Amino acid sequence: MPPFSEYSDLIKEIWTNHWLTNMGKFHQEFQLKLQEYLSVDNVDLFTNGHMALELSLQALLENVEKGAEIITTPFTFISTTHAIIRAGFKPIFCDINLDDFTIDASKIEPLINEQTCAIVPVHVYGNVCNVEEIERIAKKHGLKVIYDAAHAFGVRYKGKSVAHFGDISIFSFHATKVFNSIEGGAACIKDKDVAEKIYHLKNFGITSPERVEYIGTNAKMNEFCAAMGICNLKYLEENIAKRRRIYEKYIECLSDVQRIEIHSIQDNTEANYSYFPLLFTDEACRDRVFRCLAEHSIYARKYFYPLTSSFECFSFDENETPIALDVSGRILTLPIYSRLSLAETERICEIMRSCLGYEKAGSS
Ligand SMILES: *Cc1c(COP(=O)(O)O)cnc(C)c1O
Repeated sequence: MPPFSEYSDLIKEIWTNHWLTNMGKFHQEFQLKLQEYLSVDNVDLFTNGHMALELSLQALLENVEKGAEIITTPFTFISTTHAIIRAGFKPIFCDINLDDFTIDASKIEPLINEQTCAIVPVHVYGNVCNVEEIERIAKKHGLKVIYDAAHAFGVRYKGKSVAHFGDISIFSFHATKVFNSIEGGAACIKDKDVAEKIYHLKNFGITSPERVEYIGTNAKMNEFCAAMGICNLKYLEENIAKRRRIYEKYIECLSDVQRIEIHSIQDNTEANYSYFPLLFTDEACRDRVFRCLAEHSIYARKYFYPLTSSFECFSFDENETPIALDVSGRILTLPIYSRLSLAETERICEIMRSCLGYEKAGSS
């Protein structure tokens, strides 16, 4: 959270002008600041990342027959799969890479048929998908690409913000993400007409006082959230730098542990250190460490377990993506946030080490 006085200074203005929501001053200011920070032309703001994704799919694929197929990953937060289905499409699950957990681009083409209309990859943990190969495939087959970049705010690839990839990239500014506006989301939209349509869709499809041209919903970001985003944006780089130190501390304290695999930062990438995933050799070991930490009131997360294709609200087959299924059984993400001290990080590592039968880090 930003210093309280910085937030309350902005909020005071709301008490003067009584403009609480519906694309007010802070909405506009936050939007401009994001366009500048991400160096893209069209950024729109939403109540949350989920609505940014759902409305992006609705607008970009408006001329596609309902029920058409979208190739995506099951190794993600449930929002990705829900957005595809709620927008009227059918998710086709593609397997993931074992080294960065993003969609395995080499497995996309065999899944394409006449029904396929789009690809929805996820920059999971802030790891950048194989954007070049995905772009090549999309071009070749005439498919749209919408990136779920909910984890990837602040990530750069070859010097460019990830907001540049695909027809649309969406971000989440939920309180649990690397950058927050309490709740909130954004879509970076390349096509101006699509951007305009999405802007209306988030406000009931209203295009002027007496015209409703689209069947829309309500997904507008309010002024209190926009003000929070404006305040937090100033501290983003500082927060990423603090997270990086925690990330490095984890690596320093855990690198000799045999039963876990720690993935290094991808080449050509400036990471946001939003998550610290560990891959254990087996599920029993992962679950043991999870319980050990919980006994010490440390809440690691089995993120993402189960796969979205496993949930009871659907009837998909999780076995279609064996690598994703295997990873979801062995993955654990450790606490990482800017206020976590390095001493606390060391303590988390000591608890893990003792649980796995290792000596304290640095002792031999
Ligand atoms: C958080 C998240 C979302 C949804 O964002 P909200 O702002 O919580 O609606 C979508 N996809 C992924 C991968 C996420 O982690």
